Amino acid sequence: MSEETGERIFNGLPAAGGIAIGPAFVYEREEVFVSERVLTPDEVDREILLLNEAMLRTRQELERIVSFARKKLDDDAAKIFESQLLMLEDIEMLHSLERRLREEKKNADFLIYDELKRYREMFDGAKDIALRERMADLDEVGQRIMRNLQKKRLHLTVEGRHIIISEQLTPSDTLLFSRNDVLGYATDTGGIASHAAILSRSLKIPAVTAMQGASKEIRTGDLVILDGQHGILIVNPTEEHQREYERKSSRIESLEAELAELVDLPCVTTDGHKVELSANAEFVDELEYIITQGSKGIGLYRTEHLYIAKGDFPSEQEQFIEYSATAQSMYPQTVIFRTFDIGGDKHLNRGIPEQNPFLGWRGIRMMLDEPDLFRQQFRAILRASTMKNIKLMFPMISGLSELEEVLGIFEEVKLELRDKQINFDEHMEVGVMIEVPSAIFVADELAKRVDFFSIGTNDLVQYLMAVDRNNELIADLYQEFHPAVIRALKTIIDTGHRNNIWVGMCGEMAGNPLATVLLLGLGLDEFSMVPSVIPEVKKIIRSTNYEDAQRIAHQALQLPTSRKVRDFLEAYVRERQPQMMAALLNDDPDGDGNHVSALPVSRIAADEDHGPGDADSDSGKKTED
Ligand code: PEP
Ligand code: MG
Repeated sequence: MSEETGERIFNGLPAAGGIAIGPAFVYEREEVFVSERVLTPDEVDREILLLNEAMLRTRQELERIVSFARKKLDDDAAKIFESQLLMLEDIEMLHSLERRLREEKKNADFLIYDELKRYREMFDGAKDIALRERMADLDEVGQRIMRNLQKKRLHLTVEGRHIIISEQLTPSDTLLFSRNDVLGYATDTGGIASHAAILSRSLKIPAVTAMQGASKEIRTGDLVILDGQHGILIVNPTEEHQREYERKSSRIESLEAELAELVDLPCVTTDGHKVELSANAEFVDELEYIITQGSKGIGLYRTEHLYIAKGDFPSEQEQFIEYSATAQSMYPQTVIFRTFDIGGDKHLNRGIPEQNPFLGWRGIRMMLDEPDLFRQQFRAILRASTMKNIKLMFPMISGLSELEEVLGIFEEVKLELRDKQINFDEHMEVGVMIEVPSAIFVADELAKRVDFFSIGTNDLVQYLMAVDRNNELIADLYQEFHPAVIRALKTIIDTGHRNNIWVGMCGEMAGNPLATVLLLGLGLDEFSMVPSVIPEVKKIIRSTNYEDAQRIAHQALQLPTSRKVRDFLEAYVRERQPQMMAALLNDDPDGDGNHVSALPVSRIAADEDHGPGDADSDSGKKTED
């Protein structure tokens, strides 16, 4: 803590980029308390009347929110509220509250509370973000009905421009506070993929989340700096920090303006070498945003989210609808669908418990054991391909016989469709993900059977280095710049090119701006990444000379440790792109060097020589200065 101002620094997760400086407004959501009451027989009809009134009022409120959301947000973010409106129908119909009320003779708000509790128990511990968010939305709708039953009102107004600090914010809190011209949001709980975080990004309001109890230690009126890019909140900052962040804020504004101008420009180096930038996607809902970021199509569509959202395999028709909608929305850009990669951390409910799921019944292994499910997925993808903008790839291929078996089933399905005179793209490109180390050594044989490779560095690094990608204890050993990794990348890319196929990358490394020049110089043809980093990567590529990049890659390949490769690349970007580097590493080139140290969480894991102190301050734990 600083003696001068009582400054305190909290570290959390970056939920929406940008810097905000202003007074805090600590918001405590008023909980709805419910007690169980047994009704007398003549109270029942009146309670049903009250329930219907509360439902009607809730519907009107939600309709107003939906129409406000449509004006203020992009279509996909507005859908969060449309789906809450649909949930209202679910609550009414599925649980036949009225019937329960007549049978059990209990007060309506208690019955709603009870239904929500049942749901919560069902979804408790769900790892899937989509399911957890659905539960949170349902909870919000339920709370709204209970509040209306109790004829209470929520007050979401704040005078003047503030940074809202709260234990938690629901999607409608986030939206409705934005009417008051708020500067930023900081919450104790929530993840970067929560609906509230998605809304902050759509509203372009900086936000940090997972602040671990910060809201209890901040008072309304405290001066706060919120760094939404690095997940930092500084309360009662020193003058030095205020000046530093004011400078950063104006730098970010000019960088953003510059990046926005790149959206429609091609991704080409200064000497005319062209590469493709595409996006990784999991939901139809993301497509609109992907297009606005200047993506040339989708380089990885993780189809398993359909399975995860449903808790079981979707039918052929359900898959067909999703794949067609995606292909149509992206047309004329292409979409690469990856066949189900279930297993590993994307758990399979009906599976047998495995000791080492990442080395177990996962991806292609599971699908080859379930050929009917595989056929179903192939049929759905082929049927959706009539616009000829779909490509297909297989995860976890470890060798040629596996690939031949998969291609055999694929050909059988094509034959079947031809027999039934069902149209599909006869020339659909097919690729293999290179993410199991054995595939590198048989890449020559694999390349002869497919049209492209897509390197899955998330798994490739974990399998190559024997480091669990989700284990925080050994996160410092997960090194995408390790010489073994970058030399493997060179082998894969060279082997692909020798066999005249293109080579892309859809692992996180493709979106790490520090890796861009290296990957470009290694000859990567396509980079597929989370859409938000596309402009940054494009800016680097557009200001790089391809021959320089080749030289950089050649030099990096000679270096003996991950640290040396990283430092070398960092020095190059720092020299060529000082503004970008400053934003990436939270440097302050104009300042006095006394800056708050933080790296985005994903970058920390890649840095081998971070001491335990540094790593701690970025792991979402609260720290004091
Ligand atoms: C990868 O392994 O790099 C990849 C893109 O696939 P996933 O993260 O879904 O395993
Ligand atoms: Mg993978």
